[in-house]
Amino acid sequence: MGSILEKINRFYRLGGVRSTAMENERLKDEISNVSHELKAPLATITEALSLLSEGSLGALSEKQKKFLDLSIQNARRLNRLINGLLDSACRENSKPSIKRSLFSITDTARTIMDSLDMIAKNKGIALEGVIPDKKIEIWGDPDKLNQVISNLVHNAIKYNRPTGKVQVSLEERDNSVNISVSDTGMGIPKDDLGKVFDRFYRVKRSDTAAIPGTGLGLSIVKDIVNMHKGAISVESEINSGSKFTVALPKNLRK
Ligand code: ADP
Repeated sequence: MGSILEKINRFYRLGGVRSTAMENERLKDEISNVSHELKAPLATITEALSLLSEGSLGALSEKQKKFLDLSIQNARRLNRLINGLLDSACRENSKPSIKRSLFSITDTARTIMDSLDMIAKNKGIALEGVIPDKKIEIWGDPDKLNQVISNLVHNAIKYNRPTGKVQVSLEERDNSVNISVSDTGMGIPKDDLGKVFDRFYRVKRSDTAAIPGTGLGLSIVKDIVNMHKGAISVESEINSGSKFTVALPKNLRK
C-alpha cells in the first residue's frame, strides 16, 4: 500500500499548486483507479455480510447479528469514504472538503465503542466511555468525525499495554464539544509530541517498531479537525499514557 498512500498524500499535499498540470492529472487518474479497485472487493464483502445478517445462510444469535450489522455499517462508511476520494479526484479543485449536517456525536461515539470493544477485549484492554446520556448534536461531517474518533481509539488500543485502559470522554460546552481519548500505554517522547501530526511520522522506539502503521492516521485526523475549524492537542507521559483532545464547534453550519 506504501506507494498508493504516498500518491494520495502527494495528491492532497500538492493540491495542484506546486505540481505541473500534467503531473496533477496523472495523480488524479491514479487516485480514481485505486478508488475503483477498492470499491469492487468492498461491494462483495458488503453483499456477503448482508446475506449473512439476513439469515440467508443460517440462523444467527443476537450477538452474531449485532456484530455483523456493525461490520456492514463500517463497510458502507468505507464505501462513502472511497466515494469522497473519487469525488475529490474528479473535481478540478482537488482539496478535500466536508459535508456538514446536524448529527448526534454521542451516538457516533457509542457506535465506535461498540465496534472496537471486541478488538480491545482481544488485547486485554478495557474500553470505557464517559459519554453523557443526553444526545449532543453538532453540525459536522458524520463520516469524517467518525474517522477522527475511530483513529484515536484505534491508536489508544494499538499503543497500549495488555491489561491497559482506554477512556473516551465527551463533554459539552456552550458552543463546542470536547472529545478526549486517553490511554495507559507507552506514551510519546516529548521531542516527538510536535511531530506526530506530520504525514508519515512514526515515533522510532524499539517497542514500536513491531507495531504496524503508516504514520498517516493522525495527519488525516488533524486535517479533518481543521476542516471543522476545531483544534486538536495531545499530552503524554512516557510509559504511562497519552491523551488526545479534540475541540469542535457545535453550531458551525459552513
Ligand atoms: P500510525 O499509527 O499508522 O503509525 P498515526 O499517524 O496514527 O500513524 O500516529 C503517528 C505516530 O504517533 C505513531 O506511529 C505512534 O508512534 C504515535 N502515536 C499515535 N497515537 C499514539 C498513542 N495513543 N500512544 C503512543 N503513541 C502514539
